[in-house]
Amino acid sequence: MVATPRPLIAGNWKMNGLKSAGPREAKKLATRMGKVAKPQCDVLICPPATLLAPLRDALKGSRIAIGGQDCHGNASGAHTGDISAAMLKDSGCRYVIIGHSERRADHGESSQEVRVKADAAQAAGLTAIICVGETAAERKAGQTLKVVGKQLTASLAKGCTAKNTVVAYEPVWAIGTGLTPTVDDVRQVHGFIRARLRRRFRDDGAAMRLLYGGSVKGSNAEELMAVDNVNGALVGGASLTTADFWPIVATCI
Ligand code: PEP
Repeated sequence: MVATPRPLIAGNWKMNGLKSAGPREAKKLATRMGKVAKPQCDVLICPPATLLAPLRDALKGSRIAIGGQDCHGNASGAHTGDISAAMLKDSGCRYVIIGHSERRADHGESSQEVRVKADAAQAAGLTAIICVGETAAERKAGQTLKVVGKQLTASLAKGCTAKNTVVAYEPVWAIGTGLTPTVDDVRQVHGFIRARLRRRFRDDGAAMRLLYGGSVKGSNAEELMAVDNVNGALVGGASLTTADFWPIVATCI
């Protein structure tokens, strides 16, 4: 019998945050976490690369981990503007988000590239948070499970384990829109992903954390976090301030 995965609440700051306020905000969150005797979930902030070092320093000795928002598939080399997984690790990261729909859309990242990046992340000792999710058109066409299944198969590397991989289901149409799927829809997709993971990775697939992402906020977090096979959240907009993020963390604490 595989134990229920420990929830992870991950904040994706995207291209937001400056040194003047970011570390202070992260410290506020760490202070709130510090007051909890025995937290029942892990908490992560993925700031822009420019804030990794300031956040690492601000969060030293706290319970909040930091992560990158992307990494290159190669360990080093002539790739102007890119960051390798080893560099993220060297900057204090424990996690990296890979294959976020904004990267898939803005940078044309394919699931095959996502898999190469996931491999690189795992080789560097990072936990890869691999994002999958359908567009509004795909949902309307009844293709959700087909699309998500295809992305899963192609994006997850052979060596995925419950320790080095987290899967985030993020319907593209729910990101930053204020729209969310129904609880039943989330249950169906997460159940489908769990079955796929179990079939491919056995016990590791059963123990892998499965996050829901897309317009999670304090007002809907509790019902979303209570859905079967939802083991936490990937949060964009509502992770930028402790005032908005803490109520989400608190649902799992
Ligand atoms: C995200 O960027 O992964 C996300 C889920 O954003 P939001 O919470 O703002 O919808």
